[in-house]
Amino acid sequence: MDYYQTLQVDRSATQDEIKKAYRRLARELHPDRNSEDPEAAEKFKQVATAYEVLSDPARRTNYDRFGVDGNAGGGAVFDMGGLGDILGSMFGTGDIFGAQRGPVGPPPGENLEVYLQLSFEESVFGVQKEITVDTMISCDECEATGAEKGTMPVNCTTCGGAGHVREVRQSFMGQMVTTSTCRDCHGMGERIENPCKICRGAGRVEEERLYSVRIQPGMESGQTLQLSGRGAMGQRGGPAGNLYIHLNVQPHESLRRDGFDLIDELDIPMTLAALGTELKYHTLDGPETLRVEPGTQTGDVIRLRSKGVPRRKGRGDLLVKIRVNVPINLTEEQKHHLKKFAELRGEAITEPEASFFKRLRSKS
Ligand SMILES: [Zn+2]
Ligand SMILES: [Zn+2]
Repeated sequence: MDYYQTLQVDRSATQDEIKKAYRRLARELHPDRNSEDPEAAEKFKQVATAYEVLSDPARRTNYDRFGVDGNAGGGAVFDMGGLGDILGSMFGTGDIFGAQRGPVGPPPGENLEVYLQLSFEESVFGVQKEITVDTMISCDECEATGAEKGTMPVNCTTCGGAGHVREVRQSFMGQMVTTSTCRDCHGMGERIENPCKICRGAGRVEEERLYSVRIQPGMESGQTLQLSGRGAMGQRGGPAGNLYIHLNVQPHESLRRDGFDLIDELDIPMTLAALGTELKYHTLDGPETLRVEPGTQTGDVIRLRSKGVPRRKGRGDLLVKIRVNVPINLTEEQKHHLKKFAELRGEAITEPEASFFKRLRSKS
């Protein structure tokens, strides 16, 4: 929107011309006089915004140079030359920017957080979980107004329902008007004379709520879900906060995650690794036959496709890392056969002498 066009003035208009244009348009478009025209309120707002910028020399210069208003939504607004008072007498509200900065409304409710424990399998495949939350919900008795049944909140007398108060003082620049949030109604613009007996005027009451939450597959420990608007209701009809669910996944006894893949480590006796075998193996989906190729070495990986964590398309893999175990505590007979085997392989055996170990021991 072009502020000059909105105010129907030339780009070289003086402050005086801008002020006059604004007064004329504000009178024409004021919502009180145009209740049938829904566009009037919007136009009135635009005119007020345009005037707010163009009547401030610093903001006008900025707008001329960059075409934007760098100070939009600023805190305290002051206007030069006591214009607020001129308009105040025109409309009787004393608030020239009322269309823009009305009561702030009730504050939003608190965010809530819960910790949710998941088993490893639940985190992989997803799960439906029930969570109980101590929260605040709207008071039925007063329909969240906070006012006793049959009564209504009344306009705050301090700010006249505007939610903010104006302070006028003289300065070397002329009359300064500072606007600040009304302290009596905290910007809500209304006051409760007869508080609801159930919620004592808060417009909300404590309650334990049960939520059913769908946990998507593939969640990990430390992740947080946000349920917008499932936190505590605000006071007196204020919007609800959010509910945050922090996930804590219990570790699996042997599996761990690597992205969408699952990693396992499996011990296999030397003999079976050498000869090859088929083993019963339990994936998260159930038993599976694991084929160990002859000559499998420690560190070899057997990949079970699509037995990992579900993702948007398909699933990751399950990687079984093999550890070949060398047998210990051999019987005499086993030793005999292993020696025989070594001979067959042409692997010369020089058994460590008993005295060698004795020397080692005596040294330490
Ligand atoms: Zn109530
Ligand atoms: Zn007030």
